Amino acid sequence: MPGFTCCVPGCYNNSHRDKALHFYTFPKDPELRRLWLKNVSRAGVSGCFSTFQPTTGHRVCSEHFPDSSLSCSLTHF
Ligand SMILES: [Zn+2]
Repeated sequence: MPGFTCCVPGCYNNSHRDKALHFYTFPKDPELRRLWLKNVSRAGVSGCFSTFQPTTGHRVCSEHFPDSSLSCSLTHF
């Protein structure tokens, strides 16, 4: 099992190695995806993420989600 690697630029967390972290797929809802992208670009390399189009294969680790915004996103799942 290779696990998932976080897709955020500059972040190399891996679900196999970093078992304390959670890894999330992007929501299907376009509005939510936009919110997530905004969230992760704040933590990533500036500009690099603006044209990024996430697929179902992309995972984002829990380091990029402050508890409040994550639970908010998940509520709408
Ligand atoms: Zn990450």
